[in-house]
Amino acid sequence: MQFTDLGLSAELLRAIGEQGYTTPTPVQQQAIPHILAGRDLEALAQTGTGKTAAFVLPILQRLTNPLTSPLQKVTHTAPRVLVLVPTRELAAQVLESVRVYGAHTGLRSLAVFGGVGINPQIQTMRRGIDILVATPGRLLDHLGQRTVDLSKVQTLVLDEADRMFDMGFIRDIRRIIEKLPKVRQNLMFSATFAAEVRELAHAVLKDPAMVEVARRNAPAELVTHTVIKVDQDKKRDLLLHLFAAHGWHQVLVFCRTKHGSDALARKLEQSGVRTAALHGNKSQNARTRALADFKAGKLAALVATDIAARGLDIDSLPRVVNFELPNVPEDYIHRIGRTGRAGASGEALSLVSSDERIQLRDIERLLKREIETSIVPGFEPQHNHSTPRPSAGRPPAQKPAQARTRSGAGNRSGAPRPARSGGGGGGAAKPASHHSGQRHR
Ligand code: AMP
Repeated sequence: MQFTDLGLSAELLRAIGEQGYTTPTPVQQQAIPHILAGRDLEALAQTGTGKTAAFVLPILQRLTNPLTSPLQKVTHTAPRVLVLVPTRELAAQVLESVRVYGAHTGLRSLAVFGGVGINPQIQTMRRGIDILVATPGRLLDHLGQRTVDLSKVQTLVLDEADRMFDMGFIRDIRRIIEKLPKVRQNLMFSATFAAEVRELAHAVLKDPAMVEVARRNAPAELVTHTVIKVDQDKKRDLLLHLFAAHGWHQVLVFCRTKHGSDALARKLEQSGVRTAALHGNKSQNARTRALADFKAGKLAALVATDIAARGLDIDSLPRVVNFELPNVPEDYIHRIGRTGRAGASGEALSLVSSDERIQLRDIERLLKREIETSIVPGFEPQHNHSTPRPSAGRPPAQKPAQARTRSGAGNRSGAPRPARSGGGGGGAAKPASHHSGQRHR
C-alpha cells in the first residue's frame, strides 16, 4: 500500500513526499481510513510505529475539508482539534509533526506546556489556531485564566494514554474533557491496554474502531539477553566494575524507583562515570539537558525509571542495563526496545539478585525463552540463588583477582559474555560458567 491509496489530499501527499515517505506504516494503514471516516479510535501503538502521523494526517485532512469541518470558511480563533500529551517533549514532537505534515495546508497550530512563559502562548492563541497540542497542567492553567476556548473542539486526541495514568494526569484529563463539546471525534493511543486505560477508553470513546500494531522491532531476535547473578548489595560495585573494565559508553541503566536512580547516578558520578538521572521528579530543564547530553555522547550513563524513559526518542543504543528488573514483565520489553534497532545488534544486561527470581521467571515466560545467565568473578552471589549449584566436574568460579585486570579488552561488544557450560577458561574479564539446565526458580 502507498500513501496515495489512502485518499489523502494533494497538500498532504506533497508534505509526505518531502519527508521521503512512500509507504504508510501498519498503524497508519489501519488508523487513517477510520479517522478520515470520522470514527472514534482506540489504538495500541508505541512510539516509533509512526503513530503521530497516523492521527495528524487524517486530522489535517478533515480540517481542510468543508464537509468534515464546516467551520473552515468561518473566521474563527478557537482550536478545532485538541491533542493531549503527557510530557513537554512529546508536545514539542507532536507540534513538529503537525507543522511538517501541515506545511501546505495553511492551518495554524500551537503547543502549550509548562516550564515556559504563558504569555506568548496566550498571544498566539488570540491570533487564532486550528490545532492545539497541550499537556494537561498547562491547559488547565489556560482554562483557569480563560485564555483558551475549547467550545469548538471537534476532535480530541489522547496520546500515550498509559503514560497519562503513570504520571497521575487522569483527574486533569477528566476536568478538561468536561469542557469539550459533547459531540466530537475521540482518538486514543496507548502503548498498553492496562485496566485503567480500558476504563478511560470506555468512558470517552463511542463505538471505537480498534487498531493494534506490533512493536517496531522484534527485540528477542535482535538483542542478546544476559542475566548476571549478583547479590543486591553488590550491584553498584559490579556496575562500576563493568563500566571500568569495558570502557562502556552511552549505556541506559534502568532502576525501579526515582530514589534508587538518584542514588545510583550519584554513585556512578562520584566514581568518575559521567552520568545523569532521568525521572519524574526532575525539572523539565534538567530532563531535556540530560537527554540532549546523553544523545550527544557526553554521558557514559543515563539512569532512568521506566516512566521517564517511555516515549522518549532514544533508541539505537548498543546496550541497556537493568540494574533492577521491572515488576511488570512488559516493561522489560519496553526497556530493551531501546537497543538493537534497525537491524543493529544490541545487548540487554540484567543484574539479578536472588529476590528477583519471580520477575525473571515472568520475563522469560513473556519472551518464551530462557535468558542465559552468568556470574562475574569477584561478584559471585552469596545469597541463595537456587542456582548455580556446583555440579560434579564443573570448574569452580574464577578468582576475583582475575576479573579486575583488563580494561576495555573484553569481547567485541564490551560486555561479559553469557557463560556457556563447559566453555571454561578464556579471557580474564569473562564471567564464570554457569549455565545449561540450571534455571533460576
Ligand atoms: P512516531 O511513532 O510517531 O514517534 O514516529 C516515529 C518516526 O517514524 C518519526 O521519526 C517519523 O517521522 C517516522 N515516520 C512516520 N511515518 C513514517 C513512514 N510512513 N515512513 C517512514 N518513516 C515514518
